Amino acid sequence: MLKDLYQTVFPRVCYGCTTDLAKTENWLCSYCRNNLPLTHFHRYEQNPITQLFTGRIPLVHAASFCYFVKESAVQHLLHALKYGNATKLGTSIGEWYGTSLRNDHAFENIDLIIPIPLHLSKLQQRGYNQSALFAHGLSNTFERPVDLQSVIRNTATSTQTKKNRMERWENVADVFSITAADALKDKHVLLVDDVITTGATLEACANKILQVAGTSISIATIAFAKL
Ligand SMILES: [Zn+2]
Repeated sequence: MLKDLYQTVFPRVCYGCTTDLAKTENWLCSYCRNNLPLTHFHRYEQNPITQLFTGRIPLVHAASFCYFVKESAVQHLLHALKYGNATKLGTSIGEWYGTSLRNDHAFENIDLIIPIPLHLSKLQQRGYNQSALFAHGLSNTFERPVDLQSVIRNTATSTQTKKNRMERWENVADVFSITAADALKDKHVLLVDDVITTGATLEACANKILQVAGTSISIATIAFAKL
């Protein structure tokens, strides 16, 4: 009864479309869950993300959970994850995608998962790193360890939306540092982020990691935005 009362006062709503959730539903209503625009890129060696990085950085695999569509459930999910303190949502999406990767035998030779780090000031301001939540969710079902220590972000970069690719690249080129090369040596790293657009941030972070001997990189994100 108390639970029913609680739900009347604080109704649980879908992060995608804000309709009330049934008792058996979590985070997303069945409609939004069944209609998320999944990419299934992990099933294909060549896909729009590997093409985006061709000639930029060598990647073993690259994939994204779903397509980013404006004004869609995906945009609402990502917004809640980034600004709405929806921490369990981030883990939940990671677990969902990690299950897909495991069931499809994709990304099997990954050694560890590294989320794109936030600068400490941003982390303190937001209270969490949304990419790290996704990484922990992936780890729960895909069963690879998450490394939050070996790569750090040096500067809090300004908003990148109005810059061209070259300016963005210069902006992020020295943003990341390696703090524990030993932990990364000879490792195949799955670098994860929330959204991929130009790929400049992932490229900069991957370039730093690739300076460590024997490393290789794959990429997984929650959403892929076509430019
Ligand atoms: Zn919904």
